Amino acid sequence: MTDTPAMHAPLRGPAVYFDGTSSVRNDVVVEADAKALRILACRGQGRDRVLDEWPYAELRRMSAPEGVLRLGRRGETLLARLEIRAPELAAAIEDRAEALDRGGAAERRLRRQIVALSFAAAASLVVTAVFGLPALASRIIPLVPLAVEHKLGDAIDRNIRGTLDSQHLGSAFACGAAPSEAAGRAALDKLVGKLETVAALPFPLHVEVVRRAEPNAMALPGGHVYIDDGLIAKAQTPDELAGALAHEIGHVAHRDGTRTVLQTAGLSFLFGMMLGDFVGGGAVVIAARTVLKSSYSRRVEASADAYSVDLMAKAGGDPHALAAILKRIVGDKNEGMKLLLDHPETKDRIAAIDAVAVAGTPLPLLDAADWSALKQICAPLPANATGNVSAH
Ligand SMILES: [Zn+2]
Repeated sequence: MTDTPAMHAPLRGPAVYFDGTSSVRNDVVVEADAKALRILACRGQGRDRVLDEWPYAELRRMSAPEGVLRLGRRGETLLARLEIRAPELAAAIEDRAEALDRGGAAERRLRRQIVALSFAAAASLVVTAVFGLPALASRIIPLVPLAVEHKLGDAIDRNIRGTLDSQHLGSAFACGAAPSEAAGRAALDKLVGKLETVAALPFPLHVEVVRRAEPNAMALPGGHVYIDDGLIAKAQTPDELAGALAHEIGHVAHRDGTRTVLQTAGLSFLFGMMLGDFVGGGAVVIAARTVLKSSYSRRVEASADAYSVDLMAKAGGDPHALAAILKRIVGDKNEGMKLLLDHPETKDRIAAIDAVAVAGTPLPLLDAADWSALKQICAPLPANATGNVSAH
């Protein structure tokens, strides 16, 4: 333990005291002893007379200019206050009054948050006025910390599950956990691993296959990707599934989900994210709904397609496989075309993917045994699990 003068007998120093009843400034001497501050008169006849004594536990820090420690007394109706400029004395008081320091820390934290918020509000008003909200979201995305997006993704994921699980399957909604599905899960992990290795994403991917009949997939903020087992049913080769998955990985890499949430839910949501308190409230419900309802622009989809082509080539797979599965899905007019296919210009997309030149003949990303296991990652549910599970 270091031995400092402050630990010894009372520290004294000059201060200014306002008694709270008049506006007269009184020059006083303050004595900081073990338990309390003693305020002593320092002039005239009453010199060294004790004017007041404030226990440390009752001290309250008041806002003050830099270099001044301004103190009041808790629960005091009078506006009595002390102003201390002597740094050593101020430090000794802050040292001894624990509650004071806690209050001060909270106040400083709040002040910092308010400053950050006002700054963000002012900056965003300017950017919105000049560029509009979509442009604002694009400009702000690079500034959103990855950890915040990750947390947002987890919160949306928890919230969105119930909506996606329209058959109320509960724990059976996601495939791959049952013993009979383990081989399928292992094959999926192998496929995801091949893409993830070459993708170099800022977050780990959480890819899940869920029991939904649509030939669809979707990416949430922060690396969550859902593959409907309807899409696996439609895929004829592992590379077709991988191509679709790579398209969703493109949305993850481009942070498209987070940008959409910011564009739609707006700036107040951004502030909530910045202050880190968005997880509990209605904001996540709005964000989840936004992710479900909104569709990406043609440019964003084309960019995810281009990402897929590039990633598939890097992984040694067939870059045209995405076009092949899109063609098959588009051929079936009754199928919904929402997320993977959320635009009517799918034929243009297919043409663009097919137009990319590919060198050599790629090998399938999974062998026949793994592919067969992956096709069966959603084992049939027991008849009594639910009333209306559709078979795929
Ligand atoms: Zn897409």
